[in-house]
Amino acid sequence: MAGARTNTRRMHRLRDEFFDDGRRYDDDPATRQLSVCWICKGRIDYTAGAGTTPDSHHLDHRLPVSTHPELQEDPDNFEHAHKACNQERGTAAPTAGLGEEMPPWW
Ligand SMILES: [Zn+2]
Repeated sequence: MAGARTNTRRMHRLRDEFFDDGRRYDDDPATRQLSVCWICKGRIDYTAGAGTTPDSHHLDHRLPVSTHPELQEDPDNFEHAHKACNQERGTAAPTAGLGEEMPPWW
């Protein structure tokens, strides 16, 4: 099977299109709620290039690629997110982030 989780040209184009969608929604107050960060519900800075600042746009996958590689290029699985929020979320990483680990019996 050809490369799961590779940065294909198709994925690159989908990312660009998704960013443009979000920017269009953000331009219009009537649709703005469709373009906010799905993690913190805050407004994303569409004037910055995608991924260039913490408040800039990132394409996030609602169902993580690590568990659903077949949905990596499925636009129905895309969500708008802040770069910072997406990175903090990671792939199902705990958000408390103080390094404590769950005991194995949890
Ligand atoms: Zn956010």
